[in-house]
Amino acid sequence: SFKALVVRKDGDTISQAVETLDDSQLPPGDVTVEIAYSTVNYKDGLCLTGQGGLVRNYPHVPGIDFAGRVSASDNPRFRPGDEVVLTGWRVGEARWGGYATRTRIDGDLLVALPRGLSPREAMAVGTAGLTAMLAIQALEDHGLKPDQGEVLVTGASGGVGSVAVALLKAMGYTVAAVTGRPENEDYLRRLGADVLIDRAEIAETVKRPLESERWAGCVDAVGGAMLARVLGQMKYGASVAAVGLAGGASLPATVVPFLLRGVNLLGIDSVMKPIPAREKAWGRIAEAMPRDLLASMISEIGLEQAVQTGKDILKGGVKGRAVVDVNA
Ligand code: NAP
Repeated sequence: SFKALVVRKDGDTISQAVETLDDSQLPPGDVTVEIAYSTVNYKDGLCLTGQGGLVRNYPHVPGIDFAGRVSASDNPRFRPGDEVVLTGWRVGEARWGGYATRTRIDGDLLVALPRGLSPREAMAVGTAGLTAMLAIQALEDHGLKPDQGEVLVTGASGGVGSVAVALLKAMGYTVAAVTGRPENEDYLRRLGADVLIDRAEIAETVKRPLESERWAGCVDAVGGAMLARVLGQMKYGASVAAVGLAGGASLPATVVPFLLRGVNLLGIDSVMKPIPAREKAWGRIAEAMPRDLLASMISEIGLEQAVQTGKDILKGGVKGRAVVDVNA
């Protein structure tokens, strides 16, 4: 048997409880994983509370990320004892996810844990951090280099933002961090923010489609009016990696920054990213991420507490990364 956080739906009522399940209820797959840690991302907040139409079938076990050890495998890529990490592929949405002590999965969706990263550290990174690295790589692929000036990170004290700030700094960039929570200023400075920008300063669109050129690049977790505003502040030829919609899904922008400044808007998806690109990103994270900073982002919780943390993250109330010890 194994333990899991099960979400049930009865009419319009959503309930969540830790239950003991029989191995016959494990999802299909050719690899069995004993999960050590999962995480709480923004999307987990939606799946835990039955919002956003992401979960169609109940009962459901959420958790879009997990890390653990293989205990049985019919897949040639993995053997018992191997440490693995999973993010995305709609695990935890369309099928049962990481809020469990055991799961079964198609081994072709797993990534071997990169050397030097523990399962707990991998989950401190999680989908949020992997996406931050994918965003930075996309900016670099479009020409970003450390000597070009400040790189802006929006939603900086959140999961994507925290990892983006720490990675950019460790990779030699000058980092400007947007936050709506001034109480997180010391935290962000420790992670590597050189400049702090008050959310209110940049949260609304202005009439002018172009402002003075300031940012050499941007990792944007917020979207909405903030993304529209940032487009008009980018340096000539610079790129914005659009990652998230914590501030809204609309884009009240003009095309002028694209036409007059050659600004690029790069879409970042982590969910369906092919395995070789994931392996490359995980490898760079393992190389570049300062472990003490990663540790400083973690709030560790048990399975039961994931429900409240999921509600908090939807309100923008989580700092850094919530790591779930599924055995706690
Ligand atoms: P998170 O931890 O909640 O971080 C979001 C941050 O955005 C918050 O901490 C807050 O930072 C800021 N924020 C929240 N509400 C805001 C608002 N109304 N206006 C402006 N800023 C606001 O969530 P996350 O897990 O990092 O995810 C961030 C976003 O990226 C989500 O939309 C998520 O769905 C998306 N995402 C996308 C992918 C992908 O594959 N494309 C992968 C992972 C995540 P401050 O308090 O510091 O301002």
